[in-house]
Amino acid sequence: MSRFLNDRLQKIESYTPGEQPQDKKYIKLNTNESPYPPSEGVIKAITEAEIKDLRLYCDPECKKLKNALAECYNTEPKNIFLSNGSDDILNFSFMAYGQSGAAFPDITYGFYSVFAELYGIETEIIPLKEDFTIDIGRFCGQNKLVVIANPNAPTGIELSLDEIEKIVISNPDSIVLIDEAYVDFGGTSCAELTKKYKNLLCVGTFSKSRSMAGARLGFAIASKEIIADLEKIKYSTNPYNINRLTQVAGVKAIEENDYYMDNCKKICDTREYTVKELEALGFEVLPSKANFVFAKRDKISGEKLYLKLKENGVLVRHFTAERIKDFNRITIGSREEMEMFIKTVKEILGEKI
Ligand code: PMP
Repeated sequence: MSRFLNDRLQKIESYTPGEQPQDKKYIKLNTNESPYPPSEGVIKAITEAEIKDLRLYCDPECKKLKNALAECYNTEPKNIFLSNGSDDILNFSFMAYGQSGAAFPDITYGFYSVFAELYGIETEIIPLKEDFTIDIGRFCGQNKLVVIANPNAPTGIELSLDEIEKIVISNPDSIVLIDEAYVDFGGTSCAELTKKYKNLLCVGTFSKSRSMAGARLGFAIASKEIIADLEKIKYSTNPYNINRLTQVAGVKAIEENDYYMDNCKKICDTREYTVKELEALGFEVLPSKANFVFAKRDKISGEKLYLKLKENGVLVRHFTAERIKDFNRITIGSREEMEMFIKTVKEILGEKI
């Protein structure tokens, strides 16, 4: 850090992304990517001609992509915002709507507290209940920016739309942001509710269910007024924040949405297999509606299991926070990857295979 950095930024504890090893080959179950490649159409869409066009700026309005998404989500282009990954949209939302403070659970996506700190936003951290579910009542009547990942991460536990609606209705003077990064793995989107509630902001991503984590594409669905706010920030920071190739790939991905939704079904089946196997090995597994499971076993610490798995070529995510340090978050990969994972866990636990 240089002595020139402003005082407030010096104190920030930035977000630590999951490991992205560039050397050794791992069975990579640590950052919730899809085990499946992008669809054929997406692969073919990145043509030499498109690459040559990289000399030109991209469409800052992302018209084609907005139209495609509007059709897919049964809404209008004016109700859609696009940005460089959903992290970008979360960033903009804390910047835009945090002036009266922000409320989110103690155990959730780690970036929320970083954004709050970045903008000097006062936070109300609301503990999850004993069973790791969200304490709905405590999110009602907050009248500050409410941020909830649904399904939550890293627990995978989902709130119902009724519960979300209750929170939205009880916070009429502030934005309720529902982060739906993992909604396509058996959850229910609140996108339709944004037509009814002007304070609801639904955020999605192409990183998980649509196999495009490396392309960086996030989207938001909300009232046209909220979308205008987000556009204002985008046009005040970086209007070209979705590159040409990502825009082309995004349009194709939506055209071939069935392929991705079929993959989500496969991942849900593999999740069921993984949960059964882990439970048979004595793990406690939280009920997940995401492409990961959060699991612990009493005879081995979360950290030890994480390290042993890593030694054996399997990467999962371990968090050190007190309440969840006994757990590991395990991304659901392909069936073959999960069979290897289970086999490795059995070996580590010294069980007979
Ligand atoms: N929200 C949640 C809950 C996440 O786990 C992630 C992935 N780290 C994101 C948002 C950000 O995803 P992306 O920026 O790749 O769209």
